[in-house]
Amino acid sequence: MYEELREQVLSMGANAAAVTAVSEISFEPAFRKMCESNACGNYGKSYMCPPDIGTVEELIEEAKGYQYAFVYQTVGELEDSYDFEGMMLAGKIHNDLAQKIRGLSFPDHGKKPLFLGAGGCRLCQVCGKKTGEPCRHPEDAMSSLEAYGMNVSELAKLCGMRYINGANTVTYFGVVLF
Ligand code: SF4
Repeated sequence: MYEELREQVLSMGANAAAVTAVSEISFEPAFRKMCESNACGNYGKSYMCPPDIGTVEELIEEAKGYQYAFVYQTVGELEDSYDFEGMMLAGKIHNDLAQKIRGLSFPDHGKKPLFLGAGGCRLCQVCGKKTGEPCRHPEDAMSSLEAYGMNVSELAKLCGMRYINGANTVTYFGVVLF
């Protein structure tokens, strides 16, 4: 079943995909400090990002309540290492794929799978958090591996994937916990 899911996700545009046990994943609460530094500009600006999404301890506990993680990556091409627009576009392409993956059949062991993408939720052009409105798509809004305290570089190693894929590329990761 996992092989079938892997092939489906690869055919949808992912560059690599693998399944691992959640018990093998390294979670690091200290990563929340990176969110707090607000390098991405989404801290406090998205319902799916810290601090609104919850404390890192709560989210790690939630993630550890699942048995398996289906991990996938996409690799986007950049004009150069300063190509911010290219990075944003690659992030959008990644999270569009993450939304399509939501439509696949992951095993449901009495609990809805948890879908996580890269960076903040990119479903709306401007998050309702910024405009003072409630979340417009609470069923489809997606948080990120980073918000859940996952050590993504260790996760890549665990899954036999490269965390970085060479000059002038940007690599994003997505996870489905089930
Ligand atoms: S669905 Fe829209 S309003 Fe809700 S968290 Fe995502 S971007 Fe924000």
